[in-house]
Amino acid sequence: MRILFYDTKSYDEYSFTRELSGYPGVEIKFLKADLTRNTAELSHGYDAVCAFVNSDIGTQTVRILHDNGIRLILMRCAGFNNIDLEEAQRLGIRILRVPGYSPEAVAEHAMGLALIVNRKMHKSYLKVRENDFSLGSLMGFNFYQKTAGIVGTGKIGAAMARICYGFGMKVLAYDVYENPDLKDIVTYVTLDELLAQSDLISLHCPLMDSTYHIINRETIQKMKDGVILVNTSRGALVKTDDLIEGIRARKFFGVGLDVYEEEAPNVFEDRSDEILEHSVTARLLSFPNVMITSHQGFFTREALSAIAKTTLDNVKVYETGAESANEVKAN
Ligand code: NAD
Repeated sequence: MRILFYDTKSYDEYSFTRELSGYPGVEIKFLKADLTRNTAELSHGYDAVCAFVNSDIGTQTVRILHDNGIRLILMRCAGFNNIDLEEAQRLGIRILRVPGYSPEAVAEHAMGLALIVNRKMHKSYLKVRENDFSLGSLMGFNFYQKTAGIVGTGKIGAAMARICYGFGMKVLAYDVYENPDLKDIVTYVTLDELLAQSDLISLHCPLMDSTYHIINRETIQKMKDGVILVNTSRGALVKTDDLIEGIRARKFFGVGLDVYEEEAPNVFEDRSDEILEHSVTARLLSFPNVMITSHQGFFTREALSAIAKTTLDNVKVYETGAESANEVKAN
């Protein structure tokens, strides 16, 4: 099995190469370019491609891959909203993903963002470096005995609920399904109740039609004043213009974002020499109570190793022709 690996970073090459010896017969060619309709052509002569969250695997890309003989797309991530699933299925291309690798990695990052904006560590880091040891403007509040609201209690939301519970918080949750594993620590409520009662709101539902812009002007107005909002899930869960309006209206104590709507051209790229005109991200960063990281929630040693193993296991499953719970299909 020859796999063309798109959008390779040094850590991808390291983590996959380390696992490869356990998978004889699998060969990987690492490419720096991401998978788009322009680079899909390079897949000629390979059996499979491996892509990532911001690859463009729309209709055109899928058709070119198919014409080149590709019958397997390996997503080394959980998300698959960037693929034309119907077209892939119609053309007989299987898509296998890594549905979970280390939910704790993302949940710990979510709590990290919440703590940073609460205790203003992003500001104190800079102040102390300038020998400014004053405490002015750094006051936060205890999470202990406050209320956390978790939107989406799958693998990552459940890990976040456990972390919040460990902090001594009351944990509310909203989900279309209740997670029985959380029954001792979480109270399920409606979204409106969660918004109205939570001091910390953390988003962990997937991006779907029903969750697109779930945080918007109307839902922001339903939140408590002085709330902390954290999004480590998908940027488009939050309507950015409405978030900015809410920040300007002093609604938020803090906002921590690992994902945001216009992240696609930024994610994992060094754009430090560029002038980003019309950037909504730059506008968000101008607020002192906003902390943004670049989709790094998953980025731990444990998660990378799990991603490599599951992706290579997916290759094995594909070769046997067996069904897999990791397969993504059009509805
Ligand atoms: P999961 O499938 O285990 O859980 C998602 C939960 O959301 C499920 O319980 C589902 O019932 C719930 N849900 C579905 N529709 C909903 C709705 N309308 N309202 C509320 N809840 C709803 O997924 P997971 O592994 O916990 O991942 C959650 C999300 O985290 C992923 O979809 C992905 O977008 C994101 N993610 C981010 C990173 C990162 O690096 N920042 C890494 C991995 C995943």
